[in-house]
Amino acid sequence: MAVYDYDIHPHYSSKVLQRGSEDYERCRRQNANSDTPSRYPREIHVVRSVSDVSMALKRAAALKVPVGVRSGGHLFPCGALVHDGVLVDTTDLNRAIEYDKVTQEICFGPAVRVKELAEKLSSIARFFPHGHAPTVAEGGFLLAGGQGWFMRGWGATCQQWITRMEIVMPNGQAVIASRTENQDVFWAARGSGTGFFGVVTKFWGRTIPASQMWERVMIFEVRDKFEGLLTWAFDRAKATPKFGTDLNIATFYDEKFTPSATDEVSRDAKLLLGVFLMAYSDTQREAQTILGAYTDIPTELRACLLEERPVEKRTWDKVWEMQDEYCGSGNGQCWQINSILNDPSVPIERLIEAIKPAVCQLPTRSSSSFICIADIEADEEDAAFSLPQQKYISTFTGWKDPTLQPSIYRPMRERYKRLSSVACGMYVADYDITCDDANMKVMSDTALARFLRIRAKWDPNELFPNYKKFVETHDKINRLQSQCQL
Ligand SMILES: Cc1cc2nc3c(=O)[nH]c(=O)nc-3n(C[C@H](O)[C@H](O)[C@H](O)COP(=O)(O)OP(=O)(O)OC[C@H]3O[C@@H](n4cnc5c(N)ncnc54)[C@H](O)[C@@H]3O)c2cc1C
Repeated sequence: MAVYDYDIHPHYSSKVLQRGSEDYERCRRQNANSDTPSRYPREIHVVRSVSDVSMALKRAAALKVPVGVRSGGHLFPCGALVHDGVLVDTTDLNRAIEYDKVTQEICFGPAVRVKELAEKLSSIARFFPHGHAPTVAEGGFLLAGGQGWFMRGWGATCQQWITRMEIVMPNGQAVIASRTENQDVFWAARGSGTGFFGVVTKFWGRTIPASQMWERVMIFEVRDKFEGLLTWAFDRAKATPKFGTDLNIATFYDEKFTPSATDEVSRDAKLLLGVFLMAYSDTQREAQTILGAYTDIPTELRACLLEERPVEKRTWDKVWEMQDEYCGSGNGQCWQINSILNDPSVPIERLIEAIKPAVCQLPTRSSSSFICIADIEADEEDAAFSLPQQKYISTFTGWKDPTLQPSIYRPMRERYKRLSSVACGMYVADYDITCDDANMKVMSDTALARFLRIRAKWDPNELFPNYKKFVETHDKINRLQSQCQL
């Protein structure tokens, strides 16, 4: 079988690709995850304009088939690949970033990547909280809500930063959605992720003057100190200012970065826990002060400390390098992600105990877990993004050997499924459209009810079908919760 590497600027011979052609298959496989499922859209429309999008939606309506939309292809289960439907690929749509000096807003298309935005913003000395990984596209990122840079203080990127969107609706008409125009669509688009019912063709977002990124890193060997390390890291977050800080914790094996022919974890592999602290400030001294709560490491934890890097300047190149090392794409690398958002009413000790298997028993050597102290509050009145994101807990299962499929999917699905009693839901960016086993609620029940009303008004013929899975998941979790209360 031909190998198609992930290419963020692919070129195709035609705008409409039919099944059976080389370009069709290359395009179908343009996903960050090399584990592309056996789902084959009837046609792929590589759209270049609003009218192309409109034509693609009309074509799907005429064929009476569903629509999937892909911008960067980072949703690991590849939910955009609707079998026998029409895939709208936005790679070539508004792939530019414009800055308006008067409004201080940037405007960009949905397939614009994190790295492209970072480069443009650096060149104009402005800041906008895009995602962390270089090849994630803004389309999926912003519809999900967007855990952007320094979210602890500024919230999800869709909440305060996005001012307007241009969207082609299921009837083929383009509309502007904002707080003053088509408010219901603007509400629904921010936080519904893969359940959204339109094709976003442009975003407008606020910017602020750029500052400087700083990072402090501590790497511990976990040994028997998982609870102690996490309790300390969570506690110190409370003493760290929310504005201008990113606080992340990762677990991984010491052999993660050593090239290997196998996915198997060695018997003597050591589990490490990294604390990655970022500050956004003009000077190093400010950054040291902002991150100062992590300076004193208790003696019993210090015994596990393998490496400590003081506060130092962090360049984008270094950020991309690290992101690629931890969860990069291409070279046949396959990924599954599972995640939860903690229920803030559950005591921290119980949360830590519950997540330990999911975070410490990593199934392969390239796997890792990420705990992000997000501290994002949701405002359901303002957006479908309605679950609090206090702590985001996720595990990337990584493998290269295709013979590990499908059994490799199971361990983390099982472990995350068991976390429903400590979760308020999950970040919709990680929702698995192909398997509901470990899915949780993606919105509050009241937000879902409102979303369904708005969706029914704009997409009565259900051209965009993914929302139905949300309903099934919510019913499943509500049933589980009422059984527990009996
Ligand atoms: C390595 C890695 C790092 C990540 N880092 C972050 C992070 O820092 N912060 C964060 O919040 N998330 C992060 N994510 C999650 C990421 O934001 C989501 O996977 C997001 O969906 C990716 O968007 P995409 O356009 O690249 O993916 P796609 O797979 O192309 O899109 C995902 C879904 O969004 C919908 N969609 C996409 N584009 C459009 C459009 N133009 N119009 C309508 N619907 C559309 C479709 O339903 C599609 O199935 C990360 C993911 C990975 C794999």
